[in-house]
Amino acid sequence: MLPQTPHMKSVPVPTTGRLQAARANGWGDASTNARTNARATWQTTAIAAYALEVRGGDTHLRSEFAMRVRDLTGCALPDSAIAVNQEARRAIATCAGVVFQYQAGSLVLLRPCVHCGTGRFESLPLVTQTDLGYALSEWRPCHTECEPVDPPEETGW
Ligand SMILES: [Zn+2]
Repeated sequence: MLPQTPHMKSVPVPTTGRLQAARANGWGDASTNARTNARATWQTTAIAAYALEVRGGDTHLRSEFAMRVRDLTGCALPDSAIAVNQEARRAIATCAGVVFQYQAGSLVLLRPCVHCGTGRFESLPLVTQTDLGYALSEWRPCHTECEPVDPPEETGW
């Protein structure tokens, strides 16, 4: 005898929110559990609203980023060149070997350490062409541990 079998028919199987969301997205076998499906309607609506917001935000972020880069450099960034991190609301694209990042309304350059070539440093916000010119020429980001150490001064002791 299998002691658990009779209970499984009468006791509702608890479902997690994630499972319901998965079913609402069509990943589960929704046809076998109509009641779960009905309960998930408000969730489906919320998820759809979220997805719409994300897509809208994504498009907005891309177009704003592309506009800022074009204003500053004249480069037209194709949509495919822009990588968006939706969680961080951050967009990154490379234009003529220069990496631009746009986040929270601020456009910056990203460069690795000038000494070891690793890491990723953000320039000051680029508002004018002068800012960009500075970031392209004078700005030399480097790790604290990569900074050339001044030879110890003669103390005369
Ligand atoms: Zn370094």
